[in-house]
Amino acid sequence: MPATKTTANGRAPLAIPAPSSARVPLKVNVFRHMRMSNTALCPMFPYLDEGCFAPAVAVYSGAPGRAVGMFKHFNTVDEILVVFGARGSRLKAGNAIADVREHFVNIALSDFNDPDNYFLAAVIQRQLENRDDQREVVTFVCEQCKKPLREFPFRSQPPVGASAGLRDNPEYARGFESPIGAWRAAEQFNSNEQGRRCTHCGHVSAPFPFREWGWEKYAEQCRTVDKALQAYPGLQEEPANSTANMSMGSAANA
Ligand SMILES: [Zn+2]
Repeated sequence: MPATKTTANGRAPLAIPAPSSARVPLKVNVFRHMRMSNTALCPMFPYLDEGCFAPAVAVYSGAPGRAVGMFKHFNTVDEILVVFGARGSRLKAGNAIADVREHFVNIALSDFNDPDNYFLAAVIQRQLENRDDQREVVTFVCEQCKKPLREFPFRSQPPVGASAGLRDNPEYARGFESPIGAWRAAEQFNSNEQGRRCTHCGHVSAPFPFREWGWEKYAEQCRTVDKALQAYPGLQEEPANSTANMSMGSAANA
């Protein structure tokens, strides 16, 4: 038996270290957090640096005429979806799903026009360590035939550890890259009608309805908070924002 296995009679050879003083334990109620979150994939905790588990919540509901679209997502880290509530969905509260790293993000509601339908879930990922290359790709697909239209890769490299500077204090760290990168991708996708024309079926997809996801509001508030923090002493230069280096998006079906 490998040394790392726990035996019935012996003590587990693995120990959980005491919490780091840089990241004090916090308790967050997922339902309370969902009342206040302004975006799909709103992180529950301020700890987004290397090696952290980063649960992020999303809440959706139906409304007359509502359309939220769908896209394909690739992530270099695994994602676990935990459902906390659902109605009008094939998923139920308590379901947990480990999806493949490239997956469709297609909110599991049978009818988005029914205001009684809703979906509350958390997506949990663990940030990479040792400055490993963490990145994501958002790919928008044809509304009609679901073939890829354009893909937008971006880096979602986590910050490294906490140090003395205000900027490096996880309580004041920059925002979560996933919704910010998705917003930039959708803005670029929407700005070019030719890029929304499908080379397989000829259909021109409508702009992606990113406001339904809240990404833009989250990105705007992150930028605003960064500006406000500049008035405080001890603030260090923000590291170059990795998502600013995102490519313009390649034509996936060219
Ligand atoms: Zn098509």
